[in-house]
Amino acid sequence: MNKKNYQNVSETCQKYGAQLVAVSKTRTTEQILEMYQVGQKVFGENRVQELLEKHDKLPSDIQWHLIGHLQSNKVKYIAPFVSMIHSVDSLNLLEEINKQANKNARIIDCLLQFHIAEETTKYGLDIDEASTLLKSDSFAKLENINIVGVMGMATFTDNEKQIAQEFKNLKSIFAQLKNDFFSEKETFKEISMGMSSDFEIALKEGSTMVRVGSLIF
Ligand SMILES: *Cc1c(COP(=O)(O)O)cnc(C)c1O
Repeated sequence: MNKKNYQNVSETCQKYGAQLVAVSKTRTTEQILEMYQVGQKVFGENRVQELLEKHDKLPSDIQWHLIGHLQSNKVKYIAPFVSMIHSVDSLNLLEEINKQANKNARIIDCLLQFHIAEETTKYGLDIDEASTLLKSDSFAKLENINIVGVMGMATFTDNEKQIAQEFKNLKSIFAQLKNDFFSEKETFKEISMGMSSDFEIALKEGSTMVRVGSLIF
């Protein structure tokens, strides 16, 4: 791990009252353990298989966040232990998470992923799709998931104004959903945005959770 960068990022997050999710994809269990030993307890992985192997080998008080695209047929493997899923972008997936959480007698915290970048991708909702989902009768029936906020990724660019604008957009999506669907729910409070290259911009724009990997490892 890069101790100096880890401490810098960690202190910057503390200053803003945000949580650091240490993105440990492609890192070895030894590298993760080293960071765990200096106090990091929240780690993010983007692939289910890798997450399972690391969960097996590492201390049980690590909180594992799934941050990458999740296929419905793989939910069952992580449902017993995953502490948050950042990448929910369909009702279908949410229903499967609910079903598997129920089987494990758990309630799983989820974030709705939004497409805020300029690049085209298959993943992420827009505000209309999210509203439709949250208004639906099917959603109202789900008792084993808890939507705790939103997640997004900015365009891969060095144009800081553009990145800041995309983060502002995600924050306003959060505010609109809070107002329309979650005004009574104190647990709807997370805005997961910011990675190695843009976490400082994200924190300035109101991120509550940054997902940083390459900079700190
Ligand atoms: C890999 C990844 C990150 C972290 O990226 P770094 O540039 O290594 O900080 C954050 N979020 C998601 C969804 C990722 O897949």
